[in-house]
Amino acid sequence: MDLKPALDFETLDKRLQSDFSKYSNKIFKNSLSDLLPQKMIPVIVELSGINPGKKVNEITREERQKLVKLLKGLEMRVSSLLGFETAIVTSGGVSLKEIDSKTMKSKLIGNLFLAGEIIDLHGPTGGYNLQLCWSTGYLAGQSSARF
Ligand SMILES: Cc1cc2nc3c(=O)[nH]c(=O)nc-3n(C[C@H](O)[C@H](O)[C@H](O)COP(=O)(O)OP(=O)(O)OC[C@H]3O[C@@H](n4cnc5c(N)ncnc54)[C@H](O)[C@@H]3O)c2cc1C
Repeated sequence: MDLKPALDFETLDKRLQSDFSKYSNKIFKNSLSDLLPQKMIPVIVELSGINPGKKVNEITREERQKLVKLLKGLEMRVSSLLGFETAIVTSGGVSLKEIDSKTMKSKLIGNLFLAGEIIDLHGPTGGYNLQLCWSTGYLAGQSSARF
């Protein structure tokens, strides 16, 4: 995971140098608040391998560059899913092949119109699934009123 996608390696390194000179008298764990959200700081400090109590002006170039590498390529492993109770969207459902996309009418069962989650269609989170249920719901409603 690239935690700083807008900054390339060199730019991020320069940014760290500038933060480190700003906070040169602080200890390492108190020097990252301009760069990272508070809750991320202890995690990154630990993963960096740099002593959290080390004075910022004693951090070596090698240590700083290791930190840049960490921020640009944080490795994460998915250990499990949280389960259905916390699921945001469902995969699976009525196949698109069984639905007339112009009306949302089932091709298999007369007078049945389908919309939203019941359809085997989903997108990334961020609005696509709501749009999907609203658009198909609108179309299914309009079409069923006509039939
Ligand atoms: C925590 C969470 C966060 C989400 N965040 C996003 C997001 O940021 N962006 C995005 O695009 N999507 C998001 N989604 C997904 C989105 O909310 C759903 O895709 C969308 O609400 C599906 O709409 P729907 O009308 O098809 O189904 P639903 O909203 O599930 O509606 C189905 C309705 O049918 C009712 N029902 C069920 N069984 C019966 C029955 N036998 N008789 C009568 N009524 C019944 C239920 O009570 C429910 O009201 C999120 C979902 C969750 C759970």
